Amino acid sequence: MWKPGTQCVAKGDHTKVKTGEIAYHKGDILTVLEARQGKGVYLVRHNRTGEEGLITASNVREREAIRVDRSLSLMPWFHGKISGPEAVNKLKPVEDGLFLVRESIRHPGDYVLCVSFGQDVIHYRVIYKDKKLTIDNKQFFYNLIDMIEFYSKDKGAIATTLRRPKEKEGTKSAHVELSKTGWLLDISKLTIGGSIGEGEFGMVCEGEYMGQKVAIKNIKCDVTAQAFLDETSVMTKLQHKNLVRLLGVILHNGLYIITELMEKGSLANFLRTRGRSVITASQLLCFALDVCEGMEYLESKKLVHRDLAARNVLLSDDDVAKISDFGLAKTVTKSLDNAMLPVKWTAPEALKKEKFSTRSDVWSYGILLWEIFSYGRQPYPKMSVQEVKEKVEQGYRMEAPEKCPPGVYALMSECWDADPKKRPAFHKLRGKLEDVITSEVLSD
Ligand code: ADP
Repeated sequence: MWKPGTQCVAKGDHTKVKTGEIAYHKGDILTVLEARQGKGVYLVRHNRTGEEGLITASNVREREAIRVDRSLSLMPWFHGKISGPEAVNKLKPVEDGLFLVRESIRHPGDYVLCVSFGQDVIHYRVIYKDKKLTIDNKQFFYNLIDMIEFYSKDKGAIATTLRRPKEKEGTKSAHVELSKTGWLLDISKLTIGGSIGEGEFGMVCEGEYMGQKVAIKNIKCDVTAQAFLDETSVMTKLQHKNLVRLLGVILHNGLYIITELMEKGSLANFLRTRGRSVITASQLLCFALDVCEGMEYLESKKLVHRDLAARNVLLSDDDVAKISDFGLAKTVTKSLDNAMLPVKWTAPEALKKEKFSTRSDVWSYGILLWEIFSYGRQPYPKMSVQEVKEKVEQGYRMEAPEKCPPGVYALMSECWDADPKKRPAFHKLRGKLEDVITSEVLSD
């Protein structure tokens, strides 16, 4: 049984439709609206055309998550530092357009594009010049991915277009994997609009994909794009009304990550710009509950967010708060670079011993509650990061924000228990928050 919202990929073409049915082609994505009577019949919406109709479940499969897989590569043709003769060996048997890229041993930092053509392998030196890559001093590229994309379509100054990558042993092409699982979107259906935000790794734009409003993050640097691919594979596993939804990715100019558009931007910004006079206490409680439910879902999946804060919660047009930025979200085991930690949001044991857990997320959630009820103020106002580290360790905790319901402040305090085990889990927190909401409504 598939729940409404489940996404399916068509296994084949279905063009001879009976009444009530929907037509689709192999690879099309369909979203389940509801199960119908009769075995395996569903009402679905076609993601591209928006058309609705019936399908038989056996003709489609559920869109799978991509495994977080270190071998999944945006540059499977990149072999690192290998010598010319080694490259020639790898490109055997000869096949026009079979290619790989290696790092030059003699000129560290430069790359070599090796292409099989005729009976030979031709080595093109790729020069790094003015922060761009070039082979012929005419065509310039920001990164290797762009370069390969270009020469796959146009032979330019080289002997042949690139036809088939020679993949490095142990890597899998992200391109192949993403399109198999239905997460690769079609760039010709994407319209890019104006900028709506600035991320750490580039601009975020709004746009449209097949009639749906979307947010577009473009990561140009190939190394960063590769790192983001891991973030994306985490996101393909997650579907919840309080998590910003990934629609898919496009491999062009590095990587485009396409998510649902959250029209009202970040919660932090929303709270700051509207303030007390516009936003009611019950709306604040709704935001708090939304985030809590999203976190309860992550908790159930054993995922730790590590960067939960009001700046990473976004608001939809109809005021639903959703958690974004799974950049740091990792399955429990991974450790992290300490310099990057958002200290004011991070639990003491995570700061000191890198012990990240759902319970350290609960600590951050307490800080987020404080942000919500102080209408987006910076936590620990006027205190430096170093001061916060020391004082919190000694037992200092923030006071309740002005006019914060006592029940909510009690929850924050529980989230800030020095002992992670004594902090409530998100499913408990949700119950408690619902109780607060009920009592607040009664006392209104
Ligand atoms: P990064 O993680 O690269 O720093 P973010 O994901 O935090 O970038 O995005 C930066 C800003 O772009 C956010 O603060 C927000 O204003 C905007 N933004 C990001 N994603 C969306 C979205 N899905 N809808 C609307 N705005 C978004």
